Amino acid sequence: MDQREGWIWFDGELKPWKDAKIHVLTHGLHYASCVFEGQRAYGGEVFKLREHTERLIASGKTLDFTIPYSADEIDAACREVLAKNNLVDAYMRPVAWRGSEELSVPARNNTVHLAIAAWVWPSYFSTEEKLKGIRLEWSKWRRPAPDTIPCKAKAAGLYMICTLSKDAAMANGYADALMLDYRGYVAEATGANVFFIKGKDIVTPTPDCFLDGITRRTLIALAKANGFTVTERHMKPEELGDFDECFLTGTAAEVTPVSQIGEFSFTPAEGCRTLIDAYSAEVQPKQVAAE
Ligand code: PMP
Repeated sequence: MDQREGWIWFDGELKPWKDAKIHVLTHGLHYASCVFEGQRAYGGEVFKLREHTERLIASGKTLDFTIPYSADEIDAACREVLAKNNLVDAYMRPVAWRGSEELSVPARNNTVHLAIAAWVWPSYFSTEEKLKGIRLEWSKWRRPAPDTIPCKAKAAGLYMICTLSKDAAMANGYADALMLDYRGYVAEATGANVFFIKGKDIVTPTPDCFLDGITRRTLIALAKANGFTVTERHMKPEELGDFDECFLTGTAAEVTPVSQIGEFSFTPAEGCRTLIDAYSAEVQPKQVAAE
């Protein structure tokens, strides 16, 4: 990943990809004082760029640091990275972290850095291929309680159990893992939110201890516009057998149908197809009508 060609925006400068380096004694590396975003550009424009930028700034604030750039500057930097790398459809990763001035638990004397990278990460599968669905196993790790960790930040420390869960699932032949929360309710996958469909009714877990994804919120609006009712509530794992379809949402995952979660099977069908199509249309830059 670090040996590609291209340009990375790094503390206000565009640096050659291979030179975008940090010191080994960086606070963010040792103590997870690090927040990031995942966003996608479609047709040359980042979908919901300002929402991603605002979430990045808010995640930093939650970790008690201020990213030293305004939302306008960060948006402009994201556009600059796309243009400099000649990218039109791309995945983008802004990341902000505490630097290497001091290395022990306290962090307030360490400067805050920001870097932004972008690369091609296509949605590889056609709708037909996607509709086969992916298989998930239950994770042995649970999403922690809101008074255990700042669970609403998109912060590096929250991903330790995601990596453990996803690696374990993949080693067992599954595509991803589904995590319960600290109370035993259904929570989310390792980098995506989850929805369940029965007829025209959609149910999705209440995001009270995990990320309320930007794609999740987009999907709720699209589902309602397409005649579904959407209920956000706590869900017990044993209810999953009541649903016909299931899908994940996330910037990288977009809308990904699921065919299995542990002992429960789902058959991706019309509901998933409608929402995949609605999301694909939604992310395309809107044409401004000619005068
Ligand atoms: N949950 C987790 C743990 C994630 O990493 C992501 C991806 N950012 C999501 C949910 C979905 O968020 P979004 O739709 O904003 O990409």
